[in-house]
Amino acid sequence: MRTMDQENVGVLFMSRLKTLIIIYLTICSTAGSAQVKIRLFSNLSPESVVISVTNGQYEVNAFAGDNLIVAKGEPVIISRFNEKLAVKTRDSKGFVCDSVFLKGNTGNDSFSLRVNGNMHSRRYYSGDLKCYPDLGTLLLINICDIEKYIAGVVKAEGGNGKNKEYFKTQAVIVRTYLFKYFNKHLSDRYNVCDNTHCQVFKGSSFDTVINRAAIETKGLVILDKDSTLILSAFHSNCGGETVSSGEVWLSSQPYLKKVVDPYCLSSRNATWERRLSVKEWNRYLIKSGYSGNSTDPSVFNFSQESRLTDYSTGSFTKPLLTIRSELNLMSAFFSVISKGDSIILRGKGYGHGVGLCQEGAMAMAEKGFSYQQIIAFYYTGVIISDIKNAVVLPQNIPQNPTFGD
Ligand SMILES: [Zn+2]
Ligand SMILES: [Zn+2]
Repeated sequence: MRTMDQENVGVLFMSRLKTLIIIYLTICSTAGSAQVKIRLFSNLSPESVVISVTNGQYEVNAFAGDNLIVAKGEPVIISRFNEKLAVKTRDSKGFVCDSVFLKGNTGNDSFSLRVNGNMHSRRYYSGDLKCYPDLGTLLLINICDIEKYIAGVVKAEGGNGKNKEYFKTQAVIVRTYLFKYFNKHLSDRYNVCDNTHCQVFKGSSFDTVINRAAIETKGLVILDKDSTLILSAFHSNCGGETVSSGEVWLSSQPYLKKVVDPYCLSSRNATWERRLSVKEWNRYLIKSGYSGNSTDPSVFNFSQESRLTDYSTGSFTKPLLTIRSELNLMSAFFSVISKGDSIILRGKGYGHGVGLCQEGAMAMAEKGFSYQQIIAFYYTGVIISDIKNAVVLPQNIPQNPTFGD
């Protein structure tokens, strides 16, 4: 997480503005259909992949003379071969080249991709694919329509919600993150990778509700009062109270403030419990510098009705965030209760607690709140706007047709 130094706010603002203008130009330069370049299988380092056309028709361009046409059902195998690529299609003898570009010919082209030797790795993508040998691995770059990418990320990261307003909420969040970090891999040949370093993308979404949610919020992002893209943090369940970003990441944002959330309290991850023996808890605290020697375990009792920053027993204190990470707890929002020989950590929520609470947002959507209302509830003082209009022409923001419906 980035911290914001007060003195550098102006510089940061200018550099953000520049970044946004670059994004804007990137979008405009693709003539109508905005695209994103995603590195695929970025945490698997594949050496060889099998591609199979599932819809439309692809042209395999190896920049070495003849182009091959590959139709539906035909596999293409691409393997790293020294510092080059070996390409094999069903009808060709195969050839060696520096890079390969699979370009869709019909405008509705898709393919499956799996790592050779790993049957369970098959995923489905749309758009084009570029492939390069790179430092002992294959660099696979999918050039994909932005809204299809958004739907894929919502599918992978959105949890098990069902409601379209919830998915629209998540789509706007995912899009905001994408544009904020559009140049995260600027020195590479792509915009984003497909794992948690950027946003998880496991290929196309075949969920029609999710796909509609992405299309119906097309281009919409969340901006703060300076018209810059917000850090659209989210987590699974806040346990009834979100936490300001400054308390978790040292970077305070006016839109990432504590919000009391009545909506997530009966959801799946609303509560949790961890049981330790009094001995284990005592040993754990001693390792952290605790030196109390009471034989009464009730000295360990600690109540957290509203979120606190430190656990305390007597004069000893320890940050709850540290305890969460050391004991791998679902959240830092827990009370400590001694019961016989046991210490019960009774917790609320799941995740860091900053920004939008997914299970709360799902419950709000079920109750009939719109995605605009859900976003306004969790992110303080933000606006939802089209990225192009809001940033490049801040003085001339047209009415958004989907706003306030
Ligand atoms: Zn990344
Ligand atoms: Zn919540």
